[in-house]
Amino acid sequence: ARRSDGGGIVVIGLGRFGCHLAASLTRMDREVLAVDRNPAQVQRFSDKIDRVVQADSTEEGALRQLGVASFARAVVAIGASVEASVLTVLALVELGVPQIWARATSQKHAKILSSVGAHHVIFPEAETGDRVAHLIVSRLLDFV
Ligand code: ATP
Repeated sequence: ARRSDGGGIVVIGLGRFGCHLAASLTRMDREVLAVDRNPAQVQRFSDKIDRVVQADSTEEGALRQLGVASFARAVVAIGASVEASVLTVLALVELGVPQIWARATSQKHAKILSSVGAHHVIFPEAETGDRVAHLIVSRLLDFV
């Protein structure tokens, strides 16, 4: 059974990063509400994620209608469009979502996300690159 105790997470943007995040949270038995404006992406993940809906997340009213305001956490996984990511964070702030995570693609993007009210800023590509570098170096040491 999915949790209904406030453990639900809204995932916005089902690109390569967002779809893995949403699938992983689903496997961890979390209630996931996934949002993407592209109907093809929504269709693609409809049987892998509990609730996948088509909406433009920059529209505060659309998010409100979906019940996003009742979630304790949201992750903005949009990467390429800085404007869409910033406006989405702004909409989540307006809705009063208590814990907003947002993906940044540059330091400037990160600064804007923080200044509009994102609580956690993440850099998936940079973080994975760092992790893999450490993994490779530690494996190299294993064989010295
Ligand atoms: P990834 O690296 O995770 O694949 P990307 O940077 O290549 O991401 P983006 O353009 O950031 O791709 O889009 C990620 C997803 O976010 C796409 O599926 C896109 O449809 C969705 N998306 C972009 N803008 C909005 C929006 N305003 N509302 C809802 N979904 C959006």
